[in-house]
Amino acid sequence: MVPLAFLQNVGLPELIIILVIALLIFGHKLPSVARSLGSSVNEFKKGAKEGELEAQKQEQAMSQIKCAYCGTTYLPATVGAPCPGCGGKPGTPPAAAPEKK
Ligand SMILES: [Zn+2]
Repeated sequence: MVPLAFLQNVGLPELIIILVIALLIFGHKLPSVARSLGSSVNEFKKGAKEGELEAQKQEQAMSQIKCAYCGTTYLPATVGAPCPGCGGKPGTPPAAAPEKK
């Protein structure tokens, strides 16, 4: 029998045995390993969320806003910036729109 022959028939039972042995050897380190793994996963999620928010913000800043009152399209410098055409703020109901002078 070739020494490496056992690698060719490693099935589920063998994997379970190896896992149990590894658990017995590294079992006492498991809580800290799990903790560091969990914190890194959390960190990754936070980073992904931040990137998503940043992309969303950028997309919003890149998209033009059409004024609901005077029809002017403009690029808002900040979200919720007043319309340069009439001074009305996007999202406010027409009743609250300032009167044209
Ligand atoms: Zn306007």
